[in-house]
Amino acid sequence: MTTPEPGLPMAFPAEGLPARIRIHEVGARDGLQNEKATVPTETKAEFIRRLAAAGLTTIEATSFVHPRWVPQLADAEQLFPLVRDLRDRNGTALALPVLVPNERGLDRALALGATRVAVFASATESFAKANLNRTVDEALAMFEPVVTRARAQDAHVRGYLSMCFGDPWEGPVPVARVVRVCRALLDMGCDELSLGDTIGVATPGHVSALLTALTGEGVPVSAIGVHFHDTYGQALANTLAALRHGVTTVDASAGGLGGCPFAKSATGNLATEDLVWMLTGLGIDTGVDLGLLTATSGWMAGQLGRPSPSRTVRALSHKE
Ligand code: MG
Repeated sequence: MTTPEPGLPMAFPAEGLPARIRIHEVGARDGLQNEKATVPTETKAEFIRRLAAAGLTTIEATSFVHPRWVPQLADAEQLFPLVRDLRDRNGTALALPVLVPNERGLDRALALGATRVAVFASATESFAKANLNRTVDEALAMFEPVVTRARAQDAHVRGYLSMCFGDPWEGPVPVARVVRVCRALLDMGCDELSLGDTIGVATPGHVSALLTALTGEGVPVSAIGVHFHDTYGQALANTLAALRHGVTTVDASAGGLGGCPFAKSATGNLATEDLVWMLTGLGIDTGVDLGLLTATSGWMAGQLGRPSPSRTVRALSHKE
C-alpha cells in the first residue's frame, strides 16, 4: 500500500495482473458519434489536445465513413490535420487511429497521413446487416483489401468486432462464432482486435470463457483489446476479468461519452476515469493524470450542455 495523492485511491497491487495498461481512448470518435448536436471541429481538436495533455497516448480521432452515415464525424478531413502532429506527455507522436469502412475511406485517411486505421466487423448476422447491410462474410470480404492495402503502407490495423457477447436481435452470441470472426480478422492481417460488448450484457465469466477460447485457438493475448459497455454495470468487473487473462489494451471513453444506440437510456462506454480509478487502486500504471482527465471531461460536458455520466468524474467534481 502507498499513500495516495489527493483525488486518487490507495494502491494495493494484486498478483497476476499486468504492470501497465494501454488505454485506447474512444471518446472523440465512439463517444461523439452518438451526439445529436454537431460539435464544432475546433472543439473536437481541443478535446483531443486535452486528452493527450492528460496522458492518454492512443486516441481514436475520427471516422472516414461516408459523411451521410455519421454526420457528426463528417469533418474528418478538417479535423485530422489539426491533431495529427500532436505529441504525448513524453514527446512521442500520439497514436491516432481512425475508422475506415472501405477502400475509399482508407484512401481518404492515408492521404492525410493516418498511420493507424480500424475496420469494424460484426460477430452476428443481424448487426452486420443493420450496420453494414452485408452478411458477416461479405463484410469480411469488403475489409480484406482495406487491411491488405493498409498493411502494405505500414499502417497499423485494428479490427473492431461488435456483438461479441450478446446481440439485441439474436440474444446470446456463441463463443465459437466470435472466435471464428476474430481468426478471420487476424488472418487477413489485423494487428489487433477490439472485442466489443456493444449492448453491455457481458459478465466476467463470459469474458473469461471467450478469452480462454481465443487464447486456446492460438490468438496471442497481446493482440486482444477489450471494449466494454457499462449498460448493466459490469464494465469494470469485465475489465478485471480480462486483465487476469493478461489483456493489456482496454478501450474507454473520457467522461463515459457515447451511449449504446440500442439501449437509449442506458449507460454506454466504460468511462476512462472509472477505469483509471480502478487501475490506480490496483497499482497498474496508465500514464494518465486523473485530475487533468476529469477536468477535460468536465470541460467537454460543458460543451455538450449536460453532466458526465462517469461516476468518478461526478465524485471528484463534487469533492472540490
Ligand atoms: Mg463503444
